[in-house]
Amino acid sequence: MNQLIITKSINLLAEAKSLIPGGVNSPVRSFSSVGGDPRFIKSASGCYLYDEDDNCYIDYVGSWGPAIVGHAHPQVVEAINKSVMKGISFGAPTALENQFVAEINKLMPCIEKLRLVNSGTEATMSAIRLIRGFTGRNKLVKFIGCYHGHSDGLLVEAGSGNLTFGKPSSAGVPEDITKNTITIHFNDLHGIKKVFAAEGKNIAGVIVEPIAGNMGMVMPNADFLPLLRKLCDQNQSQLIFDEVMSGFRVGLGGATEFFNIKPDLITLGKVIGGGMPVAAFGGRAEIMNKLSPTGGVYQAGTLSGNPIALSAGLATLKIIQSKNFYSQLAQLTQQLVNGLIEIAKYYKIDFSAQYLGGMFGIYFSKTLPQNLIDQQQSNTDLFKIFFHKMLNNGIYLAPSPFEAGFVSSAHNQEVINQTLKVADSVFKELK
Ligand code: PMP
Repeated sequence: MNQLIITKSINLLAEAKSLIPGGVNSPVRSFSSVGGDPRFIKSASGCYLYDEDDNCYIDYVGSWGPAIVGHAHPQVVEAINKSVMKGISFGAPTALENQFVAEINKLMPCIEKLRLVNSGTEATMSAIRLIRGFTGRNKLVKFIGCYHGHSDGLLVEAGSGNLTFGKPSSAGVPEDITKNTITIHFNDLHGIKKVFAAEGKNIAGVIVEPIAGNMGMVMPNADFLPLLRKLCDQNQSQLIFDEVMSGFRVGLGGATEFFNIKPDLITLGKVIGGGMPVAAFGGRAEIMNKLSPTGGVYQAGTLSGNPIALSAGLATLKIIQSKNFYSQLAQLTQQLVNGLIEIAKYYKIDFSAQYLGGMFGIYFSKTLPQNLIDQQQSNTDLFKIFFHKMLNNGIYLAPSPFEAGFVSSAHNQEVINQTLKVADSVFKELK
């Protein structure tokens, strides 16, 4: 196929680069992992994105997760329109906040109390401050390859060895802060036991993506999450499930329900805002009551619980509770993933893939990854070629081998078949 015309995107990027660092307001949008030119998006509807040059793409990014009911779903748009007519922001409590939190609590009963914020970064940053305040301890355990937003203490790169006191992975983050973050590999049972044996009584808690989605999609092995729960219990450390990505994405009760393990706190984002800036952290009331104004751990936000954003979120939460929503979503994702596996097998390309609910991961390696090392050993060069060929043929995948993909309820069998048809021609070329 001829190259798509993307002149307007290219010109807009040149202009953006003179106005915005790197031309983007979040680094992954710049295509730096795959090279080439990011598309400037003009509009989105259902499972489609339209760029400034009027090219149409089937979207498997879904705004990085939120768009689980598709873009501009009529019920979500209507809820936003109704809300905006009543005022944009009040900076005072609203009945809507009660309604929204009660809805989350109904779906995730281990969240006894919830605080609303504006981004996943705020949710995880605040949850960590809270468990430190609650336990009076400083150390935090995080897993290499898990991403929990860009607050200082969580931007930590691993060194070698099982027990590593983290070094910052960003300029501008003082080592004094990250020295309290212990990093080990995801699914490393031996490593986490060693960490607790050495530091248990100093560990405020463990933060983990129960299903990792920021090193591709990586599932926890059967013993991993139960072991984290056990070690936290034995050491009076608090377990945080960062479900910003997996919450309401892999199923109605998130990974927490799927694995039937109760964390002390859960962080949420993406889906709960239906595409608007809403995130949250919550869990055991005993911990949550330590937050200001009832407790001494300070946390605040001018726009937190914004009524328009919550209206979009509530409308989305309503749609995802409709009958068979997740079984149909999972069916579509399965069709996509199994189809890709079959095609790759036919062309004898080393490839593996997995999914849960509306979340999937694809890897150019024979076996599914267990951690970041496995993922880094996959053929990322081949991914880049695959990515660009798919994009040029109207399939918009995440522009990095280290990101998960997302299917929405606006996708359908026909769209998935169309995607697989393109994938067939692309794999054939890769062969
Ligand atoms: N936690 C997880 C698991 C995430 O995937 C992300 C974002 N991809 C964040 C936290 C940070 O969320 P935000 O980008 O809204 O700050």
